[in-house]
Amino acid sequence: MRIVRRSSVITTGLLALVLGGAVGIIGHEMALGGPLLGVVPALLVLAIGLRRPWRRWALAREGLPRAQRRWLQVHVPLYRQLAGDGQDAFERDVRFVLDEYSFEGVGGVTVTDPLRLSVAAGIAVLLHGRPSWELPGSRSVLFYPERFDDTYHDTMTASYDGMAHQQGPIILTVASVEEAWSQPDDGNNVVLHELAHLFDFDNEGADGVPSLVAPVSAPDWQALVRDEMRRVRQGRSLLRPYAAEAPSEFFAVAVEHFFEQPEPMARGHEDLFRALVSFFRLDPRTGTVLENDSAVLDEGPSASNETREEPSPT
Ligand SMILES: [Zn+2]
Repeated sequence: MRIVRRSSVITTGLLALVLGGAVGIIGHEMALGGPLLGVVPALLVLAIGLRRPWRRWALAREGLPRAQRRWLQVHVPLYRQLAGDGQDAFERDVRFVLDEYSFEGVGGVTVTDPLRLSVAAGIAVLLHGRPSWELPGSRSVLFYPERFDDTYHDTMTASYDGMAHQQGPIILTVASVEEAWSQPDDGNNVVLHELAHLFDFDNEGADGVPSLVAPVSAPDWQALVRDEMRRVRQGRSLLRPYAAEAPSEFFAVAVEHFFEQPEPMARGHEDLFRALVSFFRLDPRTGTVLENDSAVLDEGPSASNETREEPSPT
């Protein structure tokens, strides 16, 4: 995550120029203080547009508290693998997420530091190789006390541990979040799973072709997914059976295994592993960030309004 995104600075600057210029001309015509009148809206636009970069700059200087750094050290294998600069960037991303996302407990849940850190670490993991990106979707996370159903209630048959919405909150149960990073090599991580779904909410709907895939590469990706889903159904896959539920679920489950079991995935699913390295521009076995060398990637995620649901990942 960048402190300043060039595109937003350009947009803000242009808007300030156009708005300030227009008001300045009106002021000049009506002799209401002349062109100087345009300075006010221009400064206002700049103040609003540059508020986030300014805040991120201040947060980056503060750094992450020692206790939070220790939590990352204990729970997040990718963070442990990174060299000094990489850890600094990771911590900065975590800091930004903790500041910019809203975290809310539902049904009496108290939002603890580890709960917040679990989500922030997931976002930092997914974006580490792609520092110019932001995670798509809303910046709201709800923690539920129990598994829930389609109506968001906890019933006897409720089976969802998490749910992601493109324009609504990410919902996660407390128990599943606590398990996500407690065994970081078991291939189960509901945080990574739900966050991965956010990449799949492109203009085509949640079809298992995440916005990480350039349109020209979509057929190759879909063929790879078909083959890999067949392996799951035949019981010849590292991925758990839920990956065969739908292409969109395949991608989310594959992301969990990619970051939690990179070595066995690289050995047993070479093409899939290579594709995911290319998507995330990161080799999770070593924490190495790839250079800009892949033709299968596009410029980043886009938006729409879809919902993904997540039965308990068993
Ligand atoms: Zn899912």
